[in-house]
Amino acid sequence: MSPCLRAEKPGGTTSAPLVPALRRHPHPAGGSRTMATPIESHVDLASLPKEERLARMRHSAAHLLAEAMLELFPDAELGIGPPIDAGFYYDFRLPRSLTPEDLAWLENRMRESVARRLPFQMAAITREEALERWKNQPFKLDLLKDLEDGTITQCTHGSFTDLCKGGHVNHTGEIGAFKLTSVAGAYWRGSEKNPQLQRVYGALFETEEELAAYERQLEEARRRDHRRIGKELKIFELFDETGPGHVVWLPNGATIRRELQRWMEDLELERGYRHVVTPAVSKRQLYVKSGHWDHFHDAMYPVMEREGEEYVLRPMNCPSHIMVFASELHSYREFPIRIAEFGNMHRWEKSGQVSGMSRVRIMTLNDAHIFCTDPAMVEAEVEGVLRLMEHAYGVLGLRNYRYRLSLADPDDKEKYVDNPEMWQKGEALLRRVLDRLGLNYFPAVGEAAFYGPKIDVQFMTAAGKEETLSTIQVDFHFPRQFGLEYIGEDGERHQPIIVHRGIISTLERMVALLIEEYEGNFPLWLAPVQAVVIPIADRHQPYAREVAGALRQHRLRVEVDDRNERMNAKIRDAQLQKVPYMLVVGDREAEARAVSLRVRGEGDQGSVPLTEVIDRLRRERDERLLT
Ligand code: ATP
Ligand code: ZN
Ligand code: ZN
Repeated sequence: MSPCLRAEKPGGTTSAPLVPALRRHPHPAGGSRTMATPIESHVDLASLPKEERLARMRHSAAHLLAEAMLELFPDAELGIGPPIDAGFYYDFRLPRSLTPEDLAWLENRMRESVARRLPFQMAAITREEALERWKNQPFKLDLLKDLEDGTITQCTHGSFTDLCKGGHVNHTGEIGAFKLTSVAGAYWRGSEKNPQLQRVYGALFETEEELAAYERQLEEARRRDHRRIGKELKIFELFDETGPGHVVWLPNGATIRRELQRWMEDLELERGYRHVVTPAVSKRQLYVKSGHWDHFHDAMYPVMEREGEEYVLRPMNCPSHIMVFASELHSYREFPIRIAEFGNMHRWEKSGQVSGMSRVRIMTLNDAHIFCTDPAMVEAEVEGVLRLMEHAYGVLGLRNYRYRLSLADPDDKEKYVDNPEMWQKGEALLRRVLDRLGLNYFPAVGEAAFYGPKIDVQFMTAAGKEETLSTIQVDFHFPRQFGLEYIGEDGERHQPIIVHRGIISTLERMVALLIEEYEGNFPLWLAPVQAVVIPIADRHQPYAREVAGALRQHRLRVEVDDRNERMNAKIRDAQLQKVPYMLVVGDREAEARAVSLRVRGEGDQGSVPLTEVIDRLRRERDERLLT
């Protein structure tokens, strides 16, 4: 990779090498003060795959940005400027922080260069020349340390020259539609030990229409972002004091969470699951036996030592449920045995990946382990789990998902248990169920659990990222590892098979997804506050409290807004909090034992008798049970 192309994801989007063949010019232009040897590098853009064309445009735009920056700050120190997914960036060390006005200026200056249609000219230079040219550019000198004589090239457009190995369009007029979007901090070469730079991001597409579509998509993602809405609606907080990925559920969030858990536990009870409660801390030895220690310990919190014993926070609940199963000897008649728990797990997710509530370090999984006697029972149970999933998504109104068959990478002996026969059996079984149910799925190698293949349900988030929500896994490994047995019909001992499953994922990831799906407008049964009673004047407070009391008798979650604020302000606040029902009460309402009803998204409904309001809310809340 070229020095100015080296990035987090270098050239990840290109299919062909970005580096044009080095063709030395036979007669270097005489009289030039530099010894640079021009390299012919015309490209027929139209003949390239779109991704590569875009990569060239994006990287070329980064050159224009660096050129503009040097005019704004002649002392700017230049880092690298690669193409990335939707555009490009360039890293700079600058005398001060960039402002939005700076970005506007830079963008304009870039457009001037675009209008001039300046050719990008590649040339080969010696190390000595390069050291001289960038003697005041410490990061370029740092890059040069890794380059040998004979491999160093530069690129010039107009009067700006950068150390670069190529990958441009022919001239600045071919750059496409772009916009500078943001500035973020970034360490030189990605290491905290190095200086921090300012990274300027740009979005770039071939056409204005594509750029506009991308911006709309970003705007939509911002609007639905669960991190923003979660804060505004007081659902959760992340504190510096508690640490990244350690979510604090505020009362509103705890309410949503409780409703989801109760609902799912009821569904599980109807389907023959039995709930247990098992500890989140166990001796390390348990996870050595299960194989977690070998295959998963990078993602575990460090060991705690007390009284000569080593303890760990569990990263998964499987071993705990296996202990429950193994606590007595079962007969084949009892199977399938379905053990469920909203189990707490702790995983040391990488800092860069922890995000809001969707990827956290302490989480509660809607977990269950189904112990089966034979493959036919496994198939029936997997089918039952798939049906339960579809039911749950139906109730929640989730549609934006697809099934993934997650397989092991046979070459990765570190990550996966080495037992090819077991993997084949598991895969064949899951395929059979998916095919029988006629579900579309796509296979993905390297996404299995370390102990077995799985069916994952992949959801699209507001930010356009796919995330696993539900999962079903077939496991021949743990039963062997723990020497599990049951008494078969023949009176002999046999090994069971385990199905691991999570329906609504972790409560953390589920609530993150629901916030984005609903944009904070939770359906009544999940809304943290289902109704607010708003007294028009202080003298209406007693009746307001009476109304609230009547609703609470039916387990409706209601609050009285008795603040010393004007009625309109209270209505506005309730709207901002996305409360589904507002019950405004004054003299007339008190007299008629009614409320003036306002419904989220529907506005003013006029005066409605209190008993009717209660009926309406109860019916709406309980509707989901009928689906
Ligand atoms: P992922 O691929 O998302 O890292 P995983 O394959 O490690 O997940 P499992 O061990 O199967 O996941 O965990 C069960 C479920 O828990 C996942 O399907 C996912 O929905 C959820 N989950 C996993 N890790 C996290 C996390 N760090 N934060 C929130 N939810 C998580
Ligand atoms: Zn370049
Ligand atoms: Zn499990």
